[in-house]
Amino acid sequence: MNSQNEKRILIFDTTLRDGNQAVGVNFSLDDKIKIALKLDDLGVDYIEGGWPNETNPIDVAFFQSILKYRLRARISTFGRTRKPMVRAEDDLDLKYLAQPDIPTVTIFGKAWRLHVKDVLNTTLEENLNMVYDSVKYLKSLGKEVIFDAEHFFDGYRDSPDYAMEVLSMAEEAGASFLVLADTRGASDPLEVYEVTKKVVDRFKTPVGIHAHNDTGMAVANSVAAVKAGAVMVHGTVNGIGERCGNADLVQVIGVLATRLNCKMNVNLRMLSTVSQYLRDITSMEENPWQPFVGKYAFSHKGGVHGDAVVKNREAYEFTDPAIFGNTSAIVVSSQSGSASLAAKAQEMGFEIDKKDPRVLEALKKVKDLESKGYVFENADGNLFLILYESIYGPPQLFELEHWTSIVTWLGDRQVVECLVRVRVGGVSMTASAEGNGPVNAFDNALKKALSPIYPKIAYVSLIGFRVREIDAPSGTAASVRILAEFESNGSRWTTIGVSTNILKAAEEALVAGYKYFLLKFSST
Ligand SMILES: [Zn+2]
Repeated sequence: MNSQNEKRILIFDTTLRDGNQAVGVNFSLDDKIKIALKLDDLGVDYIEGGWPNETNPIDVAFFQSILKYRLRARISTFGRTRKPMVRAEDDLDLKYLAQPDIPTVTIFGKAWRLHVKDVLNTTLEENLNMVYDSVKYLKSLGKEVIFDAEHFFDGYRDSPDYAMEVLSMAEEAGASFLVLADTRGASDPLEVYEVTKKVVDRFKTPVGIHAHNDTGMAVANSVAAVKAGAVMVHGTVNGIGERCGNADLVQVIGVLATRLNCKMNVNLRMLSTVSQYLRDITSMEENPWQPFVGKYAFSHKGGVHGDAVVKNREAYEFTDPAIFGNTSAIVVSSQSGSASLAAKAQEMGFEIDKKDPRVLEALKKVKDLESKGYVFENADGNLFLILYESIYGPPQLFELEHWTSIVTWLGDRQVVECLVRVRVGGVSMTASAEGNGPVNAFDNALKKALSPIYPKIAYVSLIGFRVREIDAPSGTAASVRILAEFESNGSRWTTIGVSTNILKAAEEALVAGYKYFLLKFSST
């Protein structure tokens, strides 16, 4: 890497402020502190903590509480310029932004005449004064001020002179950064590049970009601004935010690191875990297709792809997933060839060549089952069992002989009992158990029946159970597909069951899950 070509970029995270404005997100004080600590570990330069004011006690408390953690990142409050026709020092909201010992204040001011006239209901001149006075006042209190020019690109389209004049006011008053906001998220990358370049050429103050994602271009617009000379990028983890969200910092950082050779303080290897952490804390569904960090970002499914990446990863991977804490994977499906399956087998610890007839036998089984509605892309547990059986023959573990589940309704309360009989070696063993439903009762009884011979099975937990209705390939009756996810001692695996009977599909997935565990992790 040539250090002369490296460009230094500051990452400004607004997950706790703009991200908190996403529908469905409401961070508690505790959440905010935890996320700030995570962002600090990741290495972002700025953390915008929220908008402290009289009606927002959580944010006021955040700025008091966060001080004791002595974060490396600079913490910033967020708010707006003074109100029209009020002196800055008399504006209570502005005073709130200057929180004790918090070094930075980010304030937004209007850069679009439409907003000045129709939203603020004031004159164009008074708006310029508001920007100047607010920045000057906060500077006089010893704060670093980041000026966020709201609707800058819309404003520039309307009147380049006025939009530029707003920035001049902020610069003259001493702002440390002029941030160009694409607040409605409707600008395109070429436009953002051209306008940003004009601003960079005209002003001495460093320039930043704050892009929203209403037309799906927030990441592209952020990258375009950096190419034009912006040195600060605003965004949120996973792109959460108002409406369609903000620029996804995970992707922005990924692009800046791999495509633009930018230097950042961010620890790239933490990107995957930080992205996952935010999903967990916001209870948002995982996005397996998220670039750089998604579960499928480096998964190869097509037979040609799988074959090629075994020979040379660069064939279908533009970068090394490990840089971002991610891994690549060969996904086996009906589109796979024997090379993909052999690669998958090797990944699972089997020593086998792609030309071995047993690989072809396993591939035939996979394709046959897929034609019946099975999918193995997420069911590595079953794939392992298919490969095991093709290579070594059927595993001698246990056979399920029969099971009975009875649901008794007592008024509005139910009692579910299950009786299971399994055969291990030549011995039949029976156990019964209760559960909160037929599947849970079966799971409990099966584990109980197996535990005298396989005591380690007690350490396996069923952590996920998803049911999906699918069309039966024969077109006769709808089938259900069940994916069961297990965990034991930090390892996770998933199995599948398919049947027109939901209980039969559940039985198949659960039995496969325990067989996988016994073969993989437990000799007794
Ligand atoms: Zn925003």
